[in-house]
Amino acid sequence: MSTLNKVVAITGASSGIGEATARLLAERGAAVVLGARRTERLDLLAASIREAGGRAITCATDVTRRADLERLVGTAVDEFGQLDVLVSNAGIAKTGPMSDLDVDGWSAMIDVNLRGVLYGVAAALPIFRRQGRGHLVTTISTAGLKIVPTQAVYAGTKNAVRTLLEGLRQESTDGVLRTTSVSPGFVRTELTDSIEDARVREQTRRTMDEFGIAPAAVARAIAFAIEQPDDVEIGDITIRPTVQN
Ligand code: NDP
Repeated sequence: MSTLNKVVAITGASSGIGEATARLLAERGAAVVLGARRTERLDLLAASIREAGGRAITCATDVTRRADLERLVGTAVDEFGQLDVLVSNAGIAKTGPMSDLDVDGWSAMIDVNLRGVLYGVAAALPIFRRQGRGHLVTTISTAGLKIVPTQAVYAGTKNAVRTLLEGLRQESTDGVLRTTSVSPGFVRTELTDSIEDARVREQTRRTMDEFGIAPAAVARAIAFAIEQPDDVEIGDITIRPTVQN
């Protein structure tokens, strides 16, 4: 097993892909800073990582608040001396037909999935520039690659992140910043809990249960990107169940 001697802050670390990523990276030697709103879940996760000999601390983070992202990355620097990677993973999927006019749901997705990532960029970039090194990883979605009914706004927020990360990459070819976009297909997580439309929620849950891959699979893809030497950037990773159409 490789040794990952890096400091990694992760948003949405209280469940699913974020939790699995925290566990895997900590197992491989990274110091992880866990951000999410459900702090009791974060505390349990940090305790379990530390019991296994890993390094983990928590930081209550709501990604819709810029100050929370500042605090998250600041905690990494204060506690572990640096920030090597920010995994902007927090996300919600208030999916449903656009004709439902769930304007509040659309706004919530923009706030978490898009604005939350931008706040992460704003918080981490100055640190990366100061250090002369840094890596931004985001969890996007195959929803942005194959556009299907009920996922229009969700996919829109995810593709906005795809676009801004590519723009940032183009502006950052001086070797300081690496960017990675990970696009998972169906993964067995708690993401369906954020779906208000009961029919869409049940349908998505069934699909997840039927053939969704384990969150650890996405964690391995994220670890792969992080583990590369500094001069190697893994730009995009698509990872989906083999049977997903
Ligand atoms: P989960 O629901 O299990 O995890 C989502 C995480 O996001 C939780 O830790 C939650 O923590 C956090 N979160 C939600 N809102 C906020 C907020 N305002 N501030 C901080 N954290 C927040 O789902 P997944 O693990 O599946 O989701 C992780 C990412 O993967 C998301 O971006 C999702 O869109 C993406 N994705 C998931 C797929 C899937 O099939 N599961 C497919 C493609 C992409 P808390 O509630 O404690 O704040």
